Amino acid sequence: MDFKLSEDEQMFINLFSDFCKKEIEPYAEEADQKKEIPRSHFHKLAQIGYIGLPHKEEYGGQNAGTFRSLLSMQTLGKACGSTFFSVGASGGLFGLPIHHFGKEEQKKKYLPEINSGTKIGSLGITEPDSGSDVSAIKTVAKEISKGLYHLSGQKTYITNSPIADDCLVLSRVQDLNGKEKGLTHFFVDLNAKGVQRSKPMEKLGLKASQTGALFFEDVEVSSEDILGTLGKGFRQTMQTFNMERLSLAAWSIGLMEVCLEESKSFASTRRSFGKTISQHQSVGNLLAEIYTKLEASRWFTYNVAWEMEEAEKSGKGNMHLSGKCASCKLFATTSAREVTNLAVQIHGGAGFMEEYKVARLYRDVRLGEIGGGTSEIQKLIIAGSILKG
Ligand SMILES: Cc1cc2nc3c(=O)[nH]c(=O)nc-3n(C[C@H](O)[C@H](O)[C@H](O)COP(=O)(O)OP(=O)(O)OC[C@H]3O[C@@H](n4cnc5c(N)ncnc54)[C@H](O)[C@@H]3O)c2cc1C
Repeated sequence: MDFKLSEDEQMFINLFSDFCKKEIEPYAEEADQKKEIPRSHFHKLAQIGYIGLPHKEEYGGQNAGTFRSLLSMQTLGKACGSTFFSVGASGGLFGLPIHHFGKEEQKKKYLPEINSGTKIGSLGITEPDSGSDVSAIKTVAKEISKGLYHLSGQKTYITNSPIADDCLVLSRVQDLNGKEKGLTHFFVDLNAKGVQRSKPMEKLGLKASQTGALFFEDVEVSSEDILGTLGKGFRQTMQTFNMERLSLAAWSIGLMEVCLEESKSFASTRRSFGKTISQHQSVGNLLAEIYTKLEASRWFTYNVAWEMEEAEKSGKGNMHLSGKCASCKLFATTSAREVTNLAVQIHGGAGFMEEYKVARLYRDVRLGEIGGGTSEIQKLIIAGSILKG
């Protein structure tokens, strides 16, 4: 295994890290309070090449490998979780399925505008009655004449839905004879007739990343709006989830890095019983636990990212790595939740106050064990892959 970056790749990571410290991190607190990230974040992150990292150059991308993309996600996740989620839902959740399964015209139509930050995308899978159980979705596209469909249903907890231009909607399909054709992704213009969106939902954390519901009533879509293959939406979703899970592990690493830095700094200045609290062995133990969970998550994630990159280079795809991606996501997101708890503890009463960063991270981190498939679902996938292998 070789985790060494080329000179150009290292230069990008250094540049991007400086950019995030200057352009993103200072606005994270204000964005959390206003419950929205500045629209300019999309433009700036596009300009520096972040949104288009995994995409091909002809569509405004950087053609970066999984490992460089992952390090960049970790860097953005460290600066602002909400920005990481909203921008990730556009370039990743919406953009990556197009990268993998899109027809040439679809890539040309959607990717340049997403990669330039001009438009915002979203992915609509979850519904009020089906989250973990993707195959139970009820949204349906009924064919009303050859190649023309009316799509009706409801999606919920959709990142970016209050601000997005387009959504890739997972739907059942019924052909002209009423026969079920399997789950299929449709591109839906969120400003089209028959689409309604809810206001942003009030959330526990990641407050600046807007999340909401979408309602569809006989929205007109055609066979040209189908992503990839009719009836293959479930498999396409699962393939997208592998990268989403790795990206959630990358965010967790960034978040744990902040917890370690903030806790070390606080423990080195806060005094009790005549010395800094870092000199009490119990506090040192908490720092040691944070460090260990961070480093174990980091190297596990880098390892799986390296395997993903090698598999993709060899054209094998990444489905055989589903168990590893799930395991890595499970470990890193659980560790991150434990680490924010330890960081708050080190801060004492200050850790309960919103003016300290760790309080916000303690709220934000909770999504890691839910989004992209809950921890229980990750365990099912891991067990399945152990038993199959
Ligand atoms: C902030 C936020 C942003 C989101 N963004 C998006 C988005 O952009 N697009 C999108 O499509 N979705 C999005 N989601 C939805 C997210 O993917 C789902 O919430 C998640 O997959 C869980 O589904 P659920 O909420 O319906 O929980 P449920 O499936 O109802 O699960 C409830 C509980 O039951 C457990 N459970 C369910 N089935 C099993 C089982 N077979 N075995 C063991 N335990 C089980 C779960 O682990 C969980 O503990 C978002 C959610 C949030 C909170």
